Amino acid sequence: MQIRICKHCECSFNLGSQRKKAVGGYANECPDCVEELGTETAVCYRGFVTGDGKMAAMQILKFESKDDAEAYGRAWNNNSGWNNRRSGGLNDVHFTKVGENIGNSNHKGKQ
Ligand SMILES: [Zn+2]
Repeated sequence: MQIRICKHCECSFNLGSQRKKAVGGYANECPDCVEELGTETAVCYRGFVTGDGKMAAMQILKFESKDDAEAYGRAWNNNSGWNNRRSGGLNDVHFTKVGENIGNSNHKGKQ
């Protein structure tokens, strides 16, 4: 455990966590702020659309490399539904979710 204090929201976070490693950013930025603020520099953006239900949802994801984007695309095709997107093979891919059109309700209430 490497607990750090985020310079943006002053929340403590675990620098060594899978999530922090996945989203990147600086050592003094929590994963939520890296996602919210987009502080990790982008090299590859790619959108994914889900067809579940009546409302299609769009995700725009940022990858560290084209290989990661390709890997995520393959994993995405093997999973369905929102709740599965961080399960299975997707955990092996480094990406940052930068936006989605269904709103972000899981932030800590510090928009
Ligand atoms: Zn933060």
